Amino acid sequence: MADVEEPEKKRRRIEELAQKMALDDANWDGRWNHVSKFLERAGPFTHPDFEPSTELLQFLLETCKILVIGAGGLGCELLKNLALSGFRDIHLVDMDTIDVSNLNRQFLFRPKDVGRPKAEVAAEFINRRIPGCNVIAHFKKIQDFDESFYQQFHIVVCGLDSIIARRWMNGMLMSLLTFEEGVLDPSSVIPLIDGGTEGFKGNARVILPGMTACIECTLELYPPQITYPMCTIASMPRLPEHCVEYVRLLQWPKENPFGDGVPLDGDDPKHIQWVFQRSRERAGEFSITGVTYRLTQGVVKRIIPAVASTNAVIAAACATEVFKIASSAYISLNNYLMFNDVDGLYTYTFEADRKENCPACSQVPQELQFAPSAKLQDVLNYLTKSATLQMKSPAITATLEGKNKTLYLQTISSIEERTRPNLCKTLKELGLTDGQELAVTDITSPQTLLFKLSLST
Ligand SMILES: [Zn+2]
Repeated sequence: MADVEEPEKKRRRIEELAQKMALDDANWDGRWNHVSKFLERAGPFTHPDFEPSTELLQFLLETCKILVIGAGGLGCELLKNLALSGFRDIHLVDMDTIDVSNLNRQFLFRPKDVGRPKAEVAAEFINRRIPGCNVIAHFKKIQDFDESFYQQFHIVVCGLDSIIARRWMNGMLMSLLTFEEGVLDPSSVIPLIDGGTEGFKGNARVILPGMTACIECTLELYPPQITYPMCTIASMPRLPEHCVEYVRLLQWPKENPFGDGVPLDGDDPKHIQWVFQRSRERAGEFSITGVTYRLTQGVVKRIIPAVASTNAVIAAACATEVFKIASSAYISLNNYLMFNDVDGLYTYTFEADRKENCPACSQVPQELQFAPSAKLQDVLNYLTKSATLQMKSPAITATLEGKNKTLYLQTISSIEERTRPNLCKTLKELGLTDGQELAVTDITSPQTLLFKLSLST
């Protein structure tokens, strides 16, 4: 019984501890003992060139500047892990607000926070909870910042659920690289740690831009988003999903049930209810069963089930890589870790290869091979359908007779209308000749991609 601390004694001890913590400006005695063990002594797993030192901890605490992209399931875990590992200068970018359905796993958020920006609430929570940590929130899109913003960071960590955003971020870090006589200047490299999860599967990877495989090098690893052919949706539906897609894509814009131009909001129960009712009617016409409210919402929102434990594993792997790279005490992951616990547990690490002619990181001009009789529509189809490019709404321009000419642009409706006739024209009719350069911009990259047209008959 002598081991049990008297309540009064315990109260005093805790009070003293709290006082000490407050007094010593967030660096109370022994706070970094666990981190120091990794930095102040060598071991069988440390990097061969590693020199133990007390300065490394100072670097983590005072100098190292980390950018975290995404404050969702992965982002909450990442922030917590990084802050507890000693990183204090952290910027956080997220464009989302908190939804009630986030609360089961995005543990920095409370019911009172619903509706507020994720980045702000997460930053406030971490700063309040972890003394000395200074997370700066940006309730913005990654596209709202330019090179000078991204240049200030030592490491970028992505916890995103969007492939487009990931590709854009990858392209941004590539655009920061500088070369001297064709040789990469290593000081321009900002390592990118990327985590991704989908249900019980996840991956973590380390990308050294210009040096190791980048997101675009391995684009084929991402399965294309499930889409159904329009003709199936419109005239011969077989699956309940086809019926929901019919209502979402065709009936909603035609009937505008909630007013002209009001977009379908997957988080609005009235909207989902409307789509659900119409989808059920459509399914009835074709004797299709299985249209439920839940399925309707799943199709409309393209829900990928989120599993808290997968996020925790992947974020832990990513945060560990940040620590390894920032301290250079350990050899970092080379370069792709996959994790799967759908059935038992499986994890595997491999080295993804750089692609020689990667459109993002290779400096090799991209070639487009077409027959002169091919139409611009064929080029557009290739840019969007090719597994290695997977563009979303590419805009194509060319310099013809010294003038910059937009051949096709989808995102601005007046220009789309004006340039649409070009799609049915052949490359020859458009005045494009062998060797012509085409400049293509797309939301998947901040950079303009240059293609060289190779016309063969
Ligand atoms: Zn690449």
